[in-house]
Amino acid sequence: MKEQTICALATPAGNGGIAILRMSGEDSLPIAKQIFDGRGEILPRQMVLGYIRDGKTPIDQVLLVYFAAPASYTGEDVVEIHCHGGMMAAQMILDLLMEKGAVPAQPGEFTKRAFLHGKMDLSQAEAVGELIGSLSKKGAAVSARQLRGDLMKKIRELQDRLTDCIAALEAGIEYPEEDLEEAILQAQMPGLKKIEKELHKLLSSYREGRMLREGIQVAIAGRPNVGKSSLLNAIFGEEKAIVTDIPGTTRDVVKEYRTIHSVPVVFLDTAGIRETQDAVEKIGVERSRAALADCSLILFLLDGAETLTPEDSDIFREISRQEKPVLLVLNKTDLNRKTTAADVVEAFGKAPMEISAATGEGIDALLEEVYRAAIRDEEMLEGVVITEKRHQAALAAASDALGDAIRALEAGMDLDCASIDLKACWDKLGEITGETLGEEIIDRIFTKFCLGK
Ligand code: GDP
Ligand code: ZN
Repeated sequence: MKEQTICALATPAGNGGIAILRMSGEDSLPIAKQIFDGRGEILPRQMVLGYIRDGKTPIDQVLLVYFAAPASYTGEDVVEIHCHGGMMAAQMILDLLMEKGAVPAQPGEFTKRAFLHGKMDLSQAEAVGELIGSLSKKGAAVSARQLRGDLMKKIRELQDRLTDCIAALEAGIEYPEEDLEEAILQAQMPGLKKIEKELHKLLSSYREGRMLREGIQVAIAGRPNVGKSSLLNAIFGEEKAIVTDIPGTTRDVVKEYRTIHSVPVVFLDTAGIRETQDAVEKIGVERSRAALADCSLILFLLDGAETLTPEDSDIFREISRQEKPVLLVLNKTDLNRKTTAADVVEAFGKAPMEISAATGEGIDALLEEVYRAAIRDEEMLEGVVITEKRHQAALAAASDALGDAIRALEAGMDLDCASIDLKACWDKLGEITGETLGEEIIDRIFTKFCLGK
């Protein structure tokens, strides 16, 4: 069956200088020729100035560029039309393309076609999606490295080494002699253990990778009026959260982000996690609990102008249950002290950072501390990092299978048992590059994309 020619707006909807429409498929050029009236011939990779016309009516002056298969993003014939920004022209041209036989692209369909035509492997394709959604320069750099194929190269290299080990073991299965088996085992074991170690390292990069992608999620906890909203305002320098003197006013979890050393940090103001009968407040409590469950670290805020209360202890107990790093923060150092750092050490076993949300004192030091507490391994950010849950799951399964094989071999089990596990490991790695993935899963991955990619 002939594949349909797809079209979509490739730039964000809304007003901009120009909008780019993209068309991919066999009929791209014939369709373009029907509606484009240009100065000169349409040659691959050359921009042509001209008009898009609906019959005799000119719609817009545009630049058109044609990429002949397979030297295009999707590997198919591609035509891009750069028209004037604003939705009217773009929408009218899009309608015209569809009238002439193109169909609207599904989200991610251009990139999916690129993958299916071998223009990129799956980890590269996913990086396209991440690059679009990146919050920070460092996050974008990681996606760009993945797009370049760094992760794929690493995975392929591990697969190659695994293949060599499997081949050696298979030789032992073909010629079952005790001595030979033992010799093969001795020869292959170090290599297998090295692969296992590298899998573990890659797996553990997910923590940092996720932070680069989604930001360090910081939940700000503390009883009403300790200054959670004020701290957010101090960090962002403007009125992002509602500050009031009425306890429990910030009922929503407020989400904002900024970058620290190029890593995005997302702050979640929790409304309080105490039990309540008030319906609206209850929603806030639910959300706050969810924020605590999702975050990478918790700021526990205390009020230095008041004495510690049982509610402080309740909240501390609640957040300690999360088993996440907790930074103690003593606020309102600009006021007369009723709680000192020593009091906090006595009550909660750790010295607090001291800040004043009102004057901004200590805020920079606090942000540094947040970064240091979250990013345990800064070097990790420069290497091959995994950022996708899907990759993490595949790596974990690969690592398990390899671990099984190694243990089986060490326990003196048959070589063919271990060989099956090693092949399972190989297959799981293949899921990352897309070599050993079913069509259904591939579809699911690409539907996460936005339209026009
Ligand atoms: P939340 O309920 O924890 O969000 O607390 P808010 O941020 O709404 O602050 C409660 C009250 O404490 C407000 O009147 C703030 O102006 C005040 N406040 C917060 N931080 C400071 C601070 O560092 N110094 C002083 N003097 N007042 C503060
Ligand atoms: Zn608040």
